[in-house]
Amino acid sequence: MARDVPNERLRGPRRVGVLALQGDFREHLAALRACEVEGVPIRLASDLDAVDALVLPGGESTTMARLMEPELKASIQHRSAAGMPVMGTCAGMILMSRDIQGGRADQEPLKLMDIGVRRNAYGRQIDSFEAVVESPAIGGAGPAVFIRAPQVTERAPDVQELASHAGQTVAVKQGNRLALAFHPELTADRRWHQYFLTLDGEDR
Ligand code: GLN
Repeated sequence: MARDVPNERLRGPRRVGVLALQGDFREHLAALRACEVEGVPIRLASDLDAVDALVLPGGESTTMARLMEPELKASIQHRSAAGMPVMGTCAGMILMSRDIQGGRADQEPLKLMDIGVRRNAYGRQIDSFEAVVESPAIGGAGPAVFIRAPQVTERAPDVQELASHAGQTVAVKQGNRLALAFHPELTADRRWHQYFLTLDGEDR
């Protein structure tokens, strides 16, 4: 049936939550503003009701996992399973994983994606670097900042690799869930955020 009212959903999320307990959530909120989307800091489970997508920022995954109230964890898992788009960057990727190597014994991931990760996988010598990463998701090459980044050690067959760097998978997508080992929020290039905003709440 023809519609004369544009379908909001087709235009992607309009209010995007950013987990704001620790880490570089302010940079993600600024990146969303630059994409002309309203970013909403998320601290409590009830905050999640106001958004239709979620970003898990970079920072310290052990700290974020500890600061998240159990209701918020459950609510993120529930909304993600129902189709809400979620993007995790660096520590956010670790939170989204199913399995963590090098995590703390009490560090339970959210298990939003069927990936295994190893924390701080680049070692001390090269623990932070900037690289050029190429991906069809951003229509070519772009800058990527890696800071004590995780590596993807395994992924299920339906987890798609969107980018690799030096033989390592650094960007993955599974349905509406996107995880990046690097920090797009720390560069001026907004194409990873724009790509995330194209993920539709019903497309899984
Ligand atoms: N090494 C951090 C962790 O394990 C992630 C680093 C980052 O987000 N830049 O959580």
